[in-house]
Amino acid sequence: MRFDTKLLHAADPEDPLTGAVNPPIYLSSTYRQSAPNRNRGYVYSRTANPTRTVLEATLAALESGAAGLAFSSGLGALTTLLEAFPRGSRIVSVDDLYGGTWRLFEHHRRQFGVNVEYVAMSDLGAVAEALRRPADLVYVESPTNPLLRIVDLVGVVRLARAAGAVVAVDNTFATPALQRPIESGADIVLHSTTKYLGGHSDILGGALVLRTKRQATKYAWLQNAVGAVPSPFDCFLALRGIRTLGVRMRAHEASAKAVASALARHPKVRRVHYPGLASHPQHRLARRQMAGYGGIVSVEIRGGRPAALRFLKRLKVFTLAESLGGVESLVDHPASMTHASMPRSEREAHGMTDELVRLSCGIEDPADLEDDVRSALRGA
Ligand SMILES: *Cc1c(COP(=O)(O)O)cnc(C)c1O
Repeated sequence: MRFDTKLLHAADPEDPLTGAVNPPIYLSSTYRQSAPNRNRGYVYSRTANPTRTVLEATLAALESGAAGLAFSSGLGALTTLLEAFPRGSRIVSVDDLYGGTWRLFEHHRRQFGVNVEYVAMSDLGAVAEALRRPADLVYVESPTNPLLRIVDLVGVVRLARAAGAVVAVDNTFATPALQRPIESGADIVLHSTTKYLGGHSDILGGALVLRTKRQATKYAWLQNAVGAVPSPFDCFLALRGIRTLGVRMRAHEASAKAVASALARHPKVRRVHYPGLASHPQHRLARRQMAGYGGIVSVEIRGGRPAALRFLKRLKVFTLAESLGGVESLVDHPASMTHASMPRSEREAHGMTDELVRLSCGIEDPADLEDDVRSALRGA
């Protein structure tokens, strides 16, 4: 089955009772037992829920994993993942990453004595240097957030194996439509299904997909023990979003390409970050590693913070809001919004200046998005 077909049919959600072609939303928290501990596979909905089962099987199929686990949010998935790394563990993480992920890593560092180091992973030499010493977890985002740098997944997996570390990849930006890290050797894929997988900015959700059955058993135990699970209704909405992931990602990319090339030629723009531009330093790696370049474009506006804020304010089709990956276009000022939990020194050391604006290009007519950024730049 090809990818776009899997989006609809991977978990074949036909209901045996009625033939309903959409998965029923099982709102029951508990299930009748014929005798103590005799049941039909469902006991209590924190442990397993039939609507969630369909979502989890779909996620596993899309990411080429042995099993998928659904969570209440991306950070719920990350919290559960981090439960497997006790005091003294060593985590080597990409340095340009989601602000909330950084905040949770720092919390685990201070509160639980986990060692976390941040590495500019678009440079494989820097990864090799960090992995001269043994590590427990290598944590990757690619493309990174918000600077859209690309990490060579096969290269990082090879170095991590030699250092004895498990590799987890946050695949929220690329989605399995463009990149499947487990096929590159990664052990764990993490998602915020809040973003492209849900796709309509109407749910919060997260996921872990595990490469092996053994890991699946371990993390399913933690999923139940921690309890950060999604509601059956949110599982239904995530599945509804996933059905159109293929067509949406193609439309997001058409918008992003139009916006990136309009920005790239403009005198008020210092730099555009988009892996689909030939000028992106890792364009060739992106072309090799991904089936497309995605819908996120970051741009540095000349004139510092005031110019960036004037640009934001003048956009009409893009809505100023946190989050990304929905059908509607959104714009974010990372320094004061999504990445505000990072101290300025930390942000700027990694290239996230006050001039940086992140655009999540939606599926509106690309010509309207182009017009919108052009007219906003006139006022910046
Ligand atoms: C949003 C996001 C998260 C966190 O997910 P939530 O669903 O908001 O908890 C993690 N990683 C990336 C790349 C994100 O964009």
